[in-house]
Formats: sequence, structure tokens, C-alpha cells
Amino acid sequence: REVRDMTADAGTTRDERESVMLDQQVFGDNPTEVRDTDHYTREYVGGLVEKWDDLIDWSKRSETEGRFFTEQLRSRSVRTVLDVATGTGFHSVRLLEEGFDTVSADGSPQMLARAFRNGFDYGGHVLRVVNADWRWLNRDVHGEFDAIICLGNSFTHLFSEHDRRKALAEFYAKLRYNGVLIIDQRNYDALLDGASSNSHTYYYCGAQVSAEPDHVDQGLARYKYTFPDESEYFLNMYPLRKNYMRGLLRDVGFQRLETFGDFQSSYADSEPDFFIHVAEKL
Ligand code: SAM
Repeated sequence: REVRDMTADAGTTRDERESVMLDQQVFGDNPTEVRDTDHYTREYVGGLVEKWDDLIDWSKRSETEGRFFTEQLRSRSVRTVLDVATGTGFHSVRLLEEGFDTVSADGSPQMLARAFRNGFDYGGHVLRVVNADWRWLNRDVHGEFDAIICLGNSFTHLFSEHDRRKALAEFYAKLRYNGVLIIDQRNYDALLDGASSNSHTYYYCGAQVSAEPDHVDQGLARYKYTFPDESEYFLNMYPLRKNYMRGLLRDVGFQRLETFGDFQSSYADSEPDFFIHVAEKL
């Protein structure tokens, strides 16, 4: 069994060097102690980048999402979109196909490189990619946008409240005066409160890939992803509660906020796998 969770000391220079040199995930001797916003650049590397598209299964995901995001954007006359968590490019490519003027940003150069290739492979699109961390978004991405999307449970990678507030403030500043932010998150309330069954997987998970919690406490949701070739990868994430997230969005200035559960506006809180917040500036 190929296990990619390396055993160097987390957070050390040697650890960083190994991650880059080996192109593999490095969590160190105490993986559940890795609760660090900067660590995502050492998680989305090498093999996981290669396998991410098996994990998310583009066609199944298109079916599940339907026209939810494009309708949210069209109903607000959105033309320009900044995808701040491009990953391997699923939403950026869909938006380009739907005619939106799209810029694709991400803090992981390896994910962006894959997105660029996917853009070309799925319809000959040339993605406009920018390597940018959300905390310094306005330094690295220029101009204003009608909409920002941050999808696929990405915001969960921020481990401190300061980083979350900073990132949301950067998103807010990047939007035109009446712009909209669409940001989603896994239903961590259900997980933390024991209301989530293990059969709950990512709504975009490919059939051959299992995604299960490896460790959960109030400050960490560590997930294990197992692929058909039996390789395993891990992501350490902060378990955002829904109402905490809504509070943060209001605090940074978003005036109107609607939270959908698995794309529906009416739901029992424990049921959805994902919440999707649609936050308007005005
Ligand atoms: N949106 C894509 C999807 O749904 O398939 C990718 C989701 S993936 C779970 C999260 C992405 O967020 C990764 O590509 C990662 O590099 C990016 N990311 C995480 N933290 C970030 C940060 N602080 N700044 C910029 N990008 C970040």
C-alpha cells in the first residue's frame, strides 16, 4: 500500500524542503497537530494534483450542480468572475463555456498548472491564471469583478480567524460595489455534532474514491482519500460551522446573505452535505 503521508517534522525547513523535493504530501510525525493555513501548499502537490480529477469526477459533478451557479450569476447580471479557488479548473472551465469573463486564481501553482491543461483539453480554452493566496489577493490580482466564487470546500483551509477575516475582506474589496461572493463549505455541524453518517462523501466525489474522516475535533477535520490504486492522501481542514461562517460574512460587510443546503433553499440543517453561501455587497 502506497502511503504518501511522509514522516518528516511538520513546519520545519527540512519538512518544506522534502515536500518540494519529493513532490509529496508531508504531515510530519504528528499529522493531527498540523493546523496551519500555509500548509495547503504542501497538501495540493504531486500525486494528489494528478488524482484530484478522479476525486471530483467532472461529469458527475456537472450533473449534481446543474445550473445552480450559472443561474445565481446570471440573475445578478454578472459578467466578470474571479474563481479564487480554481483547483484543477472545473468551475473556471464551466464558466468560460457559459460565456463568463473568468480569471482563475489559486495559491497552489501545481493545481493551477493542471487547471491550465484541463482548460485546453476541455474545449481549447486558454485560462487566465494567477497564482495568488487569498490573504494577499488584491496585491496579486488586478481589477474589480462582478462575482467571486470560492467553491469545493476550499475556505476550510484557513486555520485562524484572523486569516479568515483577512481573506473575506480581500474578497469583499475585489468585488464591484454590488458584487456577489459565492462560497461553499462542507456541513461540518453535522460532522461535529455526530449527525453525519460516514456514508456522506463529498457531493462531487468520484465513485471509485473514498473520502472519510480520519480525525475530527473542534479544531480539525482530517480526511483520508483512498484511490482505486490504494494510494492514500490526506487533507487537514478547519471544521467551519455554518452560523460562524455566516457571521464572518456579515462582519466583513456583506449585506444580504442566503445559505443553500445542497443547492436547495429549504432544508433541515443536519441533512445537506454542503452549504452554499451567496453573499451580496448591497
Ligand atoms: N474549487 C476547486 C474544486 O472545487 O475542485 C478546488 C478545491 S480544493 C478543495 C481547494 C483549493 O483551494 C486548492 O486548489 C488550494 O490550493 C486552494 N487554496 C487553499 N487555501 C488557499 C489560500 N489561502 N489561498 C489561495 N488558494 C488556496
